[in-house]
Amino acid sequence: MATVLKILQGAGQIGGNIVVIEGNNSRIIIDFGIPLTELNGNPIDLKLDDQTITKYLPDIPDLYNDTQEKETVILLSHAHPDHFGLMRYLNQNIKIYTTQTTKSLIKKCSNILYQNLYDNLNLQEIKNKKNFCDFIIEIYPVDHSVGGACAFKITDTLTGKTILYSGDIRCHGRNRNDINKFINDNRKPDYFIIEGTTLNRDGYNIKSEKEIENEFVKNIEQNKVNIVCCSPLNIQRIISVYNACIRANKTFVIDPYTAYMLEVYADKEIPNYKSEHLKVYCAPTTQTKKIFKDERYKKYHKNKITFKEIMTNPENYVIKDNSRVSKSILKRKDINDINIIYSYWDGYLYKRNYRWGKYKDKLKIVHTSGHIRKNDLIELINKINPQNIIPIHTLSANKFEEYFEDKTIVMQNDSELKVS
Ligand SMILES: [Zn+2]
Ligand SMILES: [Zn+2]
Repeated sequence: MATVLKILQGAGQIGGNIVVIEGNNSRIIIDFGIPLTELNGNPIDLKLDDQTITKYLPDIPDLYNDTQEKETVILLSHAHPDHFGLMRYLNQNIKIYTTQTTKSLIKKCSNILYQNLYDNLNLQEIKNKKNFCDFIIEIYPVDHSVGGACAFKITDTLTGKTILYSGDIRCHGRNRNDINKFINDNRKPDYFIIEGTTLNRDGYNIKSEKEIENEFVKNIEQNKVNIVCCSPLNIQRIISVYNACIRANKTFVIDPYTAYMLEVYADKEIPNYKSEHLKVYCAPTTQTKKIFKDERYKKYHKNKITFKEIMTNPENYVIKDNSRVSKSILKRKDINDINIIYSYWDGYLYKRNYRWGKYKDKLKIVHTSGHIRKNDLIELINKINPQNIIPIHTLSANKFEEYFEDKTIVMQNDSELKVS
């Protein structure tokens, strides 16, 4: 039997990728996520309870049993639930290969954000290359909003055919070198499964992460109280805010949850709880309480700041939003010059009961996408020069045909092709 490539989910929608590469006796599954949109583009409200997400589980019963019909490994491209969200149903015998950073992020998120639902994933770090049955798996770091993201190359040793999978990728972040290595090592694959998230956003001006840093500098320079709403998982954004604070001579005040997530990285460019120009505000939130259950994290107190200290000269600080500190600041009658910088996708502001929704006219939005922009996508594909292009993680698969008509294979969910 020839090797078969199947897309079970993620074709024609954003997220929820599940790609299967199946040989005679073995099977590789890339990502196992919960979709963010329906096939018609309607957003799905991401909830992780059984009732909501089990309907997305592929009908492959042996993945959930003690014995597998074929030797199976899962590859995980990065720590976003639209790529790993369904993994908690997998039998724990099945190894999930990923990067060390993704492994650590998922362990920490499971504890803090996901009620320990993802504690028992069989996550294994792979570096560079791994042989698996008749396949060779290679891993490449790529740039995305969350740290530790990677792409994969799968070589079928029986036929010599190669399949490249981008995962979520972009070229406008800080890790330019990763993209260059990814391109140089992966020219002319037989199949390139590539994301096209931003292709339906015509005219969408996607800034670089460096431009975002500059915008932060401009926004925090004035003598105002600055609150920044951003995700601690968006590591490049945290670096942008931190760098902006240094440039504007301000102190970045983070919460213990952010400090806890920053510990995943041992990189000198990435700040941690001891860094200069940074303080930790230990508000008693649900997350903080969970973190401080472990005595080791009391170390954050070494560089802590109190609310009273912040309020003595509030304009000296850029405060990472958490519900506790922001609420306390917003209800102060003596501060009327508050600058709230919103650094997420602005679509969230229209969600019902969203905390920042009622402030949407007052927020300053400073944000850029974690996904590759159209021009970079075209350039990336031209440089890699694959034989065939398979769009995924997109509502605009047909747009690939406009640029690469003779190479694009638009697959639907639950469709397959022979790798030959
Ligand atoms: Zn995604
Ligand atoms: Zn992602």
